[in-house]
Amino acid sequence: MPKTLKFKTESQRLLNLMVNSIYTHKEIFLRELISNASDAIDKRHYMSLTDDSVPTEESYRILLETDAAKRTLSIIDNGIGLTEDELKNNLGVIAESGSKHFIEQLEKKQDVELIGQFGVGFYSAFMVAEKVEVLTKSPFSDQGYKWTSKGESTYTITPYEKSEIGTTIVLYLREDDKEKEEEYSNYLTEYNLRHLVKKYSDYVRYPIQMLVTTQAEKDGEEAQVKLETLNSMVPLWKKQKSDITDAELSDFYKHQYNDFEDPLEVIHTSVEGLLTYTALLFIPKKPPFDFYSEKYEKGLQLYSKGVFIEDKNKDLIPEYFRFVRGLVDSADLSLNISREMLQHNRQLKKIASTIEKKIKSELEKMLKNNRDQYLEFYDAYKTTLKYGVYDHYGIHKEKLQDLLMFKTSKNDQYITLSEYLENKPESQKNIYYATGKTKQSIMHLPQMDLMKEKDYEVLLFTDDIDEFMVQMLHTYQDVPFKSIQQSESDLLDETQKDILKDQEKQFEKLLKKMKKALKDKVSDVKLSGRLKESPVCLVSGEGLSLEMEKILKQMPQQQDLKADKILEINPDHPLFNVLKTLDDKKLKAYSTMLYHQALLLEGYPIEDPSEFTTEMIALMVDAANQ
Ligand code: ADP
Repeated sequence: MPKTLKFKTESQRLLNLMVNSIYTHKEIFLRELISNASDAIDKRHYMSLTDDSVPTEESYRILLETDAAKRTLSIIDNGIGLTEDELKNNLGVIAESGSKHFIEQLEKKQDVELIGQFGVGFYSAFMVAEKVEVLTKSPFSDQGYKWTSKGESTYTITPYEKSEIGTTIVLYLREDDKEKEEEYSNYLTEYNLRHLVKKYSDYVRYPIQMLVTTQAEKDGEEAQVKLETLNSMVPLWKKQKSDITDAELSDFYKHQYNDFEDPLEVIHTSVEGLLTYTALLFIPKKPPFDFYSEKYEKGLQLYSKGVFIEDKNKDLIPEYFRFVRGLVDSADLSLNISREMLQHNRQLKKIASTIEKKIKSELEKMLKNNRDQYLEFYDAYKTTLKYGVYDHYGIHKEKLQDLLMFKTSKNDQYITLSEYLENKPESQKNIYYATGKTKQSIMHLPQMDLMKEKDYEVLLFTDDIDEFMVQMLHTYQDVPFKSIQQSESDLLDETQKDILKDQEKQFEKLLKKMKKALKDKVSDVKLSGRLKESPVCLVSGEGLSLEMEKILKQMPQQQDLKADKILEINPDHPLFNVLKTLDDKKLKAYSTMLYHQALLLEGYPIEDPSEFTTEMIALMVDAANQ
């Protein structure tokens, strides 16, 4: 009895798009199905080496078979096959989390290059076929099955006698109308199929074969039918570098790693000697849509002498280069090794370490020789690099610090830390930075006054991660990082410090009163030597900075960590003279107002708006009455 089952909603939407597709390039369906067949053979090959229940196969191959009378094209593999459950779960449902996003894009854009991006390749068969049959037998099931669908809302599964392990996909080519019938008939001719295999699937590592009728050479001889292999089977990464075109690399990348844009950079490297491997690595132009979600899995594909072992080997790529896609093919890995054991494999660790160095040196080269390209890279992945500096208490900072770039108070373009040091005057002892939402808000910080006067450059920290990162960096080339929003002691020279000390003694009482007035709000009220135009500023003491306090407040598990806030007052500002004359009650009101203004300048909200406005109005009334 055939079982009739319903496609899941997302699958139905996608199928509908395929069936009614107006896409050009429908021919890519063949590439998708061949690539599925090749994946299935990869799986079987690997499993047969590690799992006794999976029989080995002498000659893995993918067969293309046509039947002009029935108008069918079959893609036949001897790969891992599918069990009944797998048929339901893999062909009836789109598992990928991104599929919804993808379908929306596809509905909008109708861009065929998007197909395959989210693991929906199989459905592309319905662009050319009015009915699809999947005849399959898995080594994990005694029974074979036939899956059938006309691309409508349902499919059926029936038991099916199949002796060989593997899968046959039968496409009943469409014949909607006369004009289109011809288009689809192309997929029945040897000439066209040969062309499509060459164009899209040449590097598939298993033979893609077809029965070909050869012309009789002499009169009287009969025409012969021969099995011919259509692809060259040389994996792209095994070819001589000089024989590979940029277009080939781009095509390979886009199809293999589901991107519709060319890669930003390709790193192709072969190492021979104690360690032998080839790596073909790609940096995508943009991070994939799920890059910042838990769904994203980093990793490189792993092959041993051209035999596929694993799709995403996480150990091959460090967290801070997690955006790199690609593969590693090594002759040094034993095929019999299980995936669990691979984790502890010494060869693999060494390969990972040389790959990491290679990526780093390529990025440094890019920064040096092709700054525009590096800036494009940096814009896309700066958060990942900065997080890498911060992660694990900064143990990787040495490797990453020269890849960092920042905009500064003097420069709207990114500069590196070493460029910052080159620009810095001899007298400047620190690398200064300031944190804020935008350049504008930082430039308006009262603390910038002195920096501008001294002509010191200030790194603009506008990403949330920046300040956490700098806690791990501490120094660069032995020059310490210093926030201009923290205490100022090392900004002032000795005479300035002395003057300030004297003033603080002189106005000790006033400062104490202000401190008392603000006792729940700040830990100290001090006179400032750095303020020029502004009457006050708010800075933090040692430890948690004001910015970090803000970021931590937004975290899901709100941590009630508070920065140590210090209110600095400009003794040279006319306002200070006013403060000296006030009675205690007024001084309290003024202190609160000043504190709130300092908060606003630091990008904080007013803590108690009603208190603030009441005081403000009282002051206004007072001023008017005088
Ligand atoms: P993707 O291949 O990107 O995962 P597809 O829609 O092309 O997405 O295929 C869905 C799933 O169906 C595959 O992941 C695989 O598990 C299974 N599948 C497809 N074709 C074959 C095949 N020829 N042999 C075995 N399994 C297959």
